Amino acid sequence: MSRDPRYDVLFEPVQIGPVTARNRFYQVPHCNGMGRLHPTSMAVMRGVKAEGGWAVVCTEQCDIHPTSATNREIRLWDDRDIPTLARMCDQVHAHGGLAGIELTHMGYYGGNEVTREAPMAPSPRPVHHDFPTQAREMDKSDIAAYRRWHRNAAVRAKTAGYDIVIVYAAHDLSLAMHFLSPRHNQRTDEYGGSIENRTRLLRELIEDTKEAVGDTCGVAVRFAVDELLGDEGVIAEREGRQVMEMLGELPDLWDVNVSDWVNDSQVSRFAEEGFQEPYTAFVKQHTSKPVVGVGRYTSPDRMVSLINKGLLDMIGAARPSIADPFLPRKIEEGRIDDIRECIGCNMCVGVSNVNAPIRCTQNPTMSEEWRRGWHPERIAPKDTNDTVLVVGAGPAGLEAAMSLGRRGYDVMLAEAGTEAGGRVARECKLPGLSAWGRVRDYRVGQLHKLANVGFYFDSNMDAEAARETGCSLIAVATGSSWRSDGTGRYHSFPIPGGDADHILTPDDLMADAEITGPVVIFDDDHYYMGGVLAEKMILAGHDVTLVTPAAEPSQWTGYTLESGPIHKHLLELGVNLLLSHAVTAVESDRIEASCVHTGKSRILTCATPVMVTARTSNDALYRELVSDEKALADAGIRRAVAIGDAYAPSTIADAVFGGHRFARELGAPMLDGPAYKDELPALAEL
Ligand code: ADP
Ligand code: SF4
Repeated sequence: MSRDPRYDVLFEPVQIGPVTARNRFYQVPHCNGMGRLHPTSMAVMRGVKAEGGWAVVCTEQCDIHPTSATNREIRLWDDRDIPTLARMCDQVHAHGGLAGIELTHMGYYGGNEVTREAPMAPSPRPVHHDFPTQAREMDKSDIAAYRRWHRNAAVRAKTAGYDIVIVYAAHDLSLAMHFLSPRHNQRTDEYGGSIENRTRLLRELIEDTKEAVGDTCGVAVRFAVDELLGDEGVIAEREGRQVMEMLGELPDLWDVNVSDWVNDSQVSRFAEEGFQEPYTAFVKQHTSKPVVGVGRYTSPDRMVSLINKGLLDMIGAARPSIADPFLPRKIEEGRIDDIRECIGCNMCVGVSNVNAPIRCTQNPTMSEEWRRGWHPERIAPKDTNDTVLVVGAGPAGLEAAMSLGRRGYDVMLAEAGTEAGGRVARECKLPGLSAWGRVRDYRVGQLHKLANVGFYFDSNMDAEAARETGCSLIAVATGSSWRSDGTGRYHSFPIPGGDADHILTPDDLMADAEITGPVVIFDDDHYYMGGVLAEKMILAGHDVTLVTPAAEPSQWTGYTLESGPIHKHLLELGVNLLLSHAVTAVESDRIEASCVHTGKSRILTCATPVMVTARTSNDALYRELVSDEKALADAGIRRAVAIGDAYAPSTIADAVFGGHRFARELGAPMLDGPAYKDELPALAEL
């Protein structure tokens, strides 16, 4: 297929100072939980993005000095750090991309827990994260030193092979940004006060970087035009515009967004594609240099209109490039239907925030490109004579059937119900989660192209039916069901009254069970479900109380950058929150809730208790199959396994991963050692 001429504009080259991007697709810097702990995984992942057509592929933040140190991100403290980063550049260059690096000094943002160096800031204040230390005020010699470290890092970046060096002034994560922001900078010297003074450091950094590496490297600025904090912070119509007026022509490229990370990486539950446009639209009025912007863009038509309307010159993307590293290539090859669109769930962000290689709900190969050898678009042709039965068309079953089909296997996909998608089909009908339906839609769309996969609805399989299919491999992807008895993280055993018939679960609420209020939701799951159901129930007109042992609702979503917005949303909707409490007993018209610290209990009137606590694998079919080895052998079945939630209830991302892994490994038993390649730190001399 060839490209639709409507999209030609997306494939025009863009000049970035001395270097040329081959098209308008720019993968902005994004954390990936690999960094310097898993450098080859990181390098190959970036190379795959370049292979997928991204003209510019940037690193995550790169620490430039021990006074600004994370434990996980890449760094350029000295020359020893160059080889790791050179590996990334080589990977990106091998696929025709330009490599960009985001030089970072986090100032007050981190506590330097590893290095024990005192954090620094324009004005003294406690550090951002909950580490009990303060950042000290930078004096003139600190500013001079910082400029020197930044310059040295830029030179090392050039040596490593980078084509674009990014001066970072965004996300509340960078000293240049802190100097700009009124809330951080209360200095009275030439670096504080007027906008000219507060911009001085950013100007100097751009000039230093241009002077040091600008002969061969493009010098970009990543700039948050608005902190969404009102007067205390940077505002687009004030500092944003003033900075652009003063510095618009100085760098070779502007990559603009809103700060902080919570605002920049908003989830689809709270923000649509293109949500940053109202803030960043003005930037191009003030510069002739290319402007990059983000907004979870996955629609090529939307991208074209951004260019044609003169709002952006390059389409920036982090999450859309994670969900589909081949997004540009697919547009270029006229394969729009093949784009695996980001669902805006922030699982990637959440996992990077727990310091692990990122996972993606849509793209099971993310972070596995090198260590497991999983390419997002290529999968080995079949190498056995198996035929495969996949039972259940949730995310695990759909992914397994699709990927097996791509390998060339003949597959039967049997689904008990009348629609595809399993939990995704149910959950995408919950308030704010409609984009999650993309997990189903992408796979169903792909399955339609595979003549070797038969899709059978209304096919509730029992062991006998499964054996009779004549398939030699069976993957049981029958999902999981929510428990109703209160057992979960907090309670190891069912609670008193936990067997009552009027207790409902998320499964019941998603099946639109008849409800009477008041409703009490016991959220001991701590991810999105409890909060989303509270929203659904209150929108249905009920009085709703959410009881959770955690200190805030949907606590795990702190990692996915949602807990603040979710907390605010539930309060605004009028949901009653009873935090640090567990439901400890259920009666017909009330429940008992007890403080998790003191045990002191209170009684709440409740017609409908809802338990969001734990799930049980629906693995009866799997157990029945493997309990009769002879029947399996007689039927010519060499292996039956459970995958996805039927194997272990987890996230949708893990169900997709489980389905993909089955398609690659055909359910081979676990190895005694690691299932992937890994890097160990090189030991120094004692
Ligand atoms: P996962 O997240 O692991 O993919 P889901 O719960 O989303 O699991 O999907 C499981 C799917 O399996 C559902 O669509 C359900 O209707 C289907 N299913 C469950 N039991 C059977 C069965 N015995 N035969 C066929 N399909 C089944
Ligand atoms: Fe998008 Fe979710 Fe994948 Fe992140 S994990 S890239 S938000 S689909």
